[in-house]
Amino acid sequence: MKYHLMYLLLGLTILSAGCNSQPRKLRILSCGIRHESNTFSTLPTTFSDFKILRGEAISNGQKWADYLKEEGIELIPTVHAYAWPGGIVEKQAYETIKNEILGQIRNAGELDGIYMDMHGALHVDGYADAQVDFIKEIRKIAGEKVIISGSFDLHGNVSDEFVSGLNVLTAYRTAPHRDEAETRLRAVKMLVKCIREKLAPRIECVTIPILVPGEKSITEVEPLNSIYAKLYTVEKREGLLDASIFVGYAWADLPRSSMRVFVIAKDEMYARKAKQEASQIARQIWDARSRLELDVESGSIQEMIKKAELLPQKTVFISDSGDNTTAGAPGDNPQVLKALIDAGCKNALIAGFVDLEAFNQCVKAGIGANVKLVVGGKKDHTFGFSLPLEGIVENFSPDSILATTKAVVLLKVKGIKVALLNSRRSFTTLKDFSDVGLNPLDFKIVVVKLGYLYPELRDIAPAHLIALTSGFCNLDISSLPFKQAKRPIYPLDREMTWLAN
Ligand SMILES: [Zn+2]
Repeated sequence: MKYHLMYLLLGLTILSAGCNSQPRKLRILSCGIRHESNTFSTLPTTFSDFKILRGEAISNGQKWADYLKEEGIELIPTVHAYAWPGGIVEKQAYETIKNEILGQIRNAGELDGIYMDMHGALHVDGYADAQVDFIKEIRKIAGEKVIISGSFDLHGNVSDEFVSGLNVLTAYRTAPHRDEAETRLRAVKMLVKCIREKLAPRIECVTIPILVPGEKSITEVEPLNSIYAKLYTVEKREGLLDASIFVGYAWADLPRSSMRVFVIAKDEMYARKAKQEASQIARQIWDARSRLELDVESGSIQEMIKKAELLPQKTVFISDSGDNTTAGAPGDNPQVLKALIDAGCKNALIAGFVDLEAFNQCVKAGIGANVKLVVGGKKDHTFGFSLPLEGIVENFSPDSILATTKAVVLLKVKGIKVALLNSRRSFTTLKDFSDVGLNPLDFKIVVVKLGYLYPELRDIAPAHLIALTSGFCNLDISSLPFKQAKRPIYPLDREMTWLAN
């Protein structure tokens, strides 16, 4: 009996040891602070500007999270924070978000990897480079062994010091952006590959002294279309994991603002090869720099209105590029509205115009009311101005009374319809129009506070012109007061020479 019990105990011990030797589920934590910070804007980005996702809201409907699930990998989602492009992020906002993420990393237990969902152009008041601070703090807690992978917007300005804290990274390959989901999935797949195959990847980078706005570096047109296409070939080469071109973000006057090419080697052995590939791409971009220009006709707003009226197309989109809210501008500069009124335009739509005060006045007055307003110049005190006008409140979305962030008031000012917004945002999708009963193709002129058109608009626009308006997103970046950007840099220093090493 005694022996039987002994054997039973021995058996259980072996069994339990056997269970312990089973490899445990891989554990990957995710976090992110995504922001494109316009250092020329005088409008700070505050904590309340951030949309913060936690828990399941992070993984719901995300290809990268579905992939982890299919692979039987445990995801520990922490905080993914995103704010619409704007001015420099307030210190307290960044630190509040960062501290919540760090606290969760501290309590996460043993981790195999971390996925960072970033934009790359984050700039925080009081920090030379907040992204460096962020990665250093993460490393302090997670240690050096945990593999960290980041996905980025190709408009990110990522410094060498920041990148040295990551193990792998990748960026969108389209601008206008059409591949956000694929990019995140690529970053996560690369992370899992590195963990499973116990790789020690190397990130090789070549910084190209070029700083151009996104409108001059569209990936769907040449010269970048064919250069970006090469990334798919490079990443398949033996020993290489990924390749990215960061165009950078031009409205950030920072030493790290620049174009960059990254190629990831699976280990030290292929590092030289990765560097050579990066240099080759960098050289091709440098040689093509004079062709990094707008892909559509541009000029003063008065010229663009005249041109649009003469074009045979039923609808012409005009970008109010200096006040591009998707690149951080306030969106309340009335220069285009004034020009349309002055030109006596009969069938134009301004989609949209940010003015909370005017918005509230219209909602209070009610549908059909005649209103006298002073619009604009309330946020942008540098380039903006006040424009007094009279109009009729045509309609407002039902949620306007609740003042949700999706609310729109339609104001008719002579022949011009103005979509008044209560918060800083842009019309970027067809749904933005249909939500308020608008079809952009019903108008001769549609003004958007964008630079390039976002994919859905780009795909339907019969014609597009860019008005070179003033503002924090002025497309003529040489007119902006750059002080910190590393010089020489093209095109601020047009005659400079450079050789990729
Ligand atoms: Zn972008």
